[in-house]
Amino acid sequence: MPELPEAETIATQLNHCLSGVSFGRVILRRREMVHGDRRSLTSTLPGRRVRQVTRRGKRVLIELHPKAMLVFRLGMTGQIMVTPATKLRDRHVHLSIKLQDDDRELRFRDVRRFGGIWFREADSQADDDGLGGLGPEPLELDLAQFAEICNRARQIKALLLDQSAIAGLGNIYCDEALFQAKVHPLIPASELKASQRRRLFRSIQAVLTRAIKAGGSTLRDYRTATGQEGNFQNEHRVYGRTGEPCGRCKAVIERQIIAGRSTHFCPLCQAVPGVV
Ligand SMILES: [Zn+2]
Repeated sequence: MPELPEAETIATQLNHCLSGVSFGRVILRRREMVHGDRRSLTSTLPGRRVRQVTRRGKRVLIELHPKAMLVFRLGMTGQIMVTPATKLRDRHVHLSIKLQDDDRELRFRDVRRFGGIWFREADSQADDDGLGGLGPEPLELDLAQFAEICNRARQIKALLLDQSAIAGLGNIYCDEALFQAKVHPLIPASELKASQRRRLFRSIQAVLTRAIKAGGSTLRDYRTATGQEGNFQNEHRVYGRTGEPCGRCKAVIERQIIAGRSTHFCPLCQAVPGVV
């Protein structure tokens, strides 16, 4: 499932490909994928020019001129790509936007359909812009703000997954950051010692930064906006490594369901003193 580094990679590439480019004809195959001003999407997108493409949490934002915004939620299997318009569209391509004076188009493809598209005009009456309720960005936080977020009794893994507490982390990068920081995923956030909290804060930023550099993690569906696979999956230390020896202590990596998600951790490196 695409998380912050994957969305960042896609947004950076799209910004490079699309800035200053005007949209042409729109083909919307599944109307139910679009929220907000869905009625005007196909009629008012053609002729609009891309100002910039950015990211917020795990979402990709295309800012347009005249003023409007397209927001993409990638969900489990969402892909946003710029491809030759002649390339066959399979049945999972729900939206295609032709680029003006160009033989390529922007496509949103989503096999499982947990993703979504929000279109919002500047004078929109729609209250849902696809960005509501998102917490702060993990790479823009300072330690004091992170300590404030951690001042809750919830288990740290569940808290980090909560997009309203901190936006952009999913299963992969939570597990990797908790491992790097040697923090057990079930420990209540408010019980973290100051030193653990500091380590976790630094680990989250370090793991995300390295993953962005590597173009994200491809496990199955994720591709960059140019159709490439990411490389960070080769650097996963615990995620997807159940039963393998820990690279630090050789204990066997375990997997448990936490907050409804499978969690990978080293029972020795991430032990809770007095419990394990
Ligand atoms: Zn270990």
